[in-house]
Amino acid sequence: MSRLLIGKTVSAALLPSLQNQASLLKEKGVEPVLALIRIGNRLSDVRYQTSIQKRCSSIGITCRPQILPENCRQQDLLRLIRQVNQDMSIHGCLIFRPFPPAFDDALIRASLAPEKDVDGITDASLAGLFTGAPTGYSPCTAAACMEILNHYDIPVKGRDVVVIGSSLVIGRPVAMEFLKREATVTICHIRTKDVGKYCRSADIIVSAAGCRNLVTASMVRPGQTLIDVGINPAENGGICGDVDFSNVSPIVDAITPVPGGVGSVTTAILARHVLEAAEKASRPFLVLGPHPLKMDKRMTAAKRHCPSIS
Ligand code: NAD
Repeated sequence: MSRLLIGKTVSAALLPSLQNQASLLKEKGVEPVLALIRIGNRLSDVRYQTSIQKRCSSIGITCRPQILPENCRQQDLLRLIRQVNQDMSIHGCLIFRPFPPAFDDALIRASLAPEKDVDGITDASLAGLFTGAPTGYSPCTAAACMEILNHYDIPVKGRDVVVIGSSLVIGRPVAMEFLKREATVTICHIRTKDVGKYCRSADIIVSAAGCRNLVTASMVRPGQTLIDVGINPAENGGICGDVDFSNVSPIVDAITPVPGGVGSVTTAILARHVLEAAEKASRPFLVLGPHPLKMDKRMTAAKRHCPSIS
């Protein structure tokens, strides 16, 4: 049996410093606040919201959930985001995705103030990740993968990494995180002809495809580390990852379970980003919160796409 990379162990190790950071902010009179914007009652979103609220309350971060009905209009969502942008008492905002299919994903992402974008969805955050500039926040799941490797002292520099999945949510950001740490990265996706060929040659495999039993025993070898980001419905009614866990785990060196792996670290990373955003907003002599000029530019751009925004 390989070494299990347990998410709870990683988040438990992060907790004391996060609690300490929240206390220090409160001593300065800053109450860290995270807005959560959800549309409808999708079960996975409700569960994720519950775990975020639990994590935040254990650290000392206040969550403000805002729930829109499933049949809401895009402009309702944009209006809510604008309120969050303008509310100086809110430091970070997470918007549950995917949005309803008729909504304009790029427009909605662009309407969130980058300084409150603690889940790295805006182009401004992603640009920082891609250029290596220390601006914005990495998407929490991508950062959680790196935190797990860091916690378990699994080296990254100079190693061969395969990322399965090329979405802006996980695949691409996590690939950039590895590149930043000087790994050699290959990204596989649905059109990749032989994912197994790339996996077998890698030192570290990150699977973020959302495809049950995608990574099988014939695609791995001893000495590898496997990070399973996938969340799929399991036959027993629970959830499972992308990896055929029972057949793969005896072969590789280290592996994250699902549940209990990456997902458990994601909320701790989110909390860390909220505290960072609150800390930045509390610094004296800086423009606090969204700059009014930038806000105007964002709203002008949003109105150009969607003239009905008031
Ligand atoms: P997505 O559907 O946007 O992207 C999936 C990617 O995987 C695409 O690039 C696609 O080309 C690739 N892919 C799909 N099937 C493949 C196959 N058979 N072979 C090779 N590539 C394949 O999904 P996403 O938003 O990136 O999420 C991916 C998975 O991660 C989902 O299961 C999602 O539920 C999960 N997820 C986990 C967390 C967490 O904290 N653990 C957070 C968010 C999402």
